[in-house]
Amino acid sequence: MAKWQNAQQVQDVATVRPARNDAKAYRRWHYLKNRAKVLQQSKDWYLNNKERKLSKASDWAASHPDDIHRHCKKWRDSNKEHERYRNKEYHSANRCSINQKQRDRMRLHYLKNRDSLLAKNREWRQRNKAYILHQAAKRRALKKLSTVNLGMIRGWMAYIKSLPFVRCYYCSEEIRGPEIHFDHIVPLAKGGPHCIENLCVACQHCNCSKRDKSIRAWVKLGQQFLEL
Ligand SMILES: [Zn+2]
Repeated sequence: MAKWQNAQQVQDVATVRPARNDAKAYRRWHYLKNRAKVLQQSKDWYLNNKERKLSKASDWAASHPDDIHRHCKKWRDSNKEHERYRNKEYHSANRCSINQKQRDRMRLHYLKNRDSLLAKNREWRQRNKAYILHQAAKRRALKKLSTVNLGMIRGWMAYIKSLPFVRCYYCSEEIRGPEIHFDHIVPLAKGGPHCIENLCVACQHCNCSKRDKSIRAWVKLGQQFLEL
């Protein structure tokens, strides 16, 4: 259809009447000559049969899930830029509910598998005792070396904890009391200082998924909900 969209072309083709034995060209000529009428007729037909048409389409879709899935995947694969933009828009408009759903899923998974998860964790800690102690000592040393004005940090943390609620620096989620985590924006392990300017409040999800990654590396993993 695209090649007939130019109005001048439509005009040109419509003025040259093809031979009747060239059925395809004749049909095209007839269509172009009566284009407005034909389009109106088909629009009227659609409006009169809209319900029937939609219900037929949804019946077909319900009975052909694999075809729909294949078609959608093909479309998504060839429109990656559009999909990325659409996902980004959707995430920023539904950030809170997405966060909540993710939390609910994680919570449910934890409650369902609590015993096995705790056992696995215990076993891992047992097996990696030396590594854990080493990491903790390294972190303590880094913190001590890079601390700037500890008194001010303590005062700020106490003030944050006294507030009725605060918002996560990364995802803007409302957090309160024990849910409040403090995070180093540039991780200590990456040379970030332990100072007020490098600290932020974060929800458990953001803090635990970011760990000691830089924001850039964390964003690449796609585990966070913030738009950067
Ligand atoms: Zn967060």
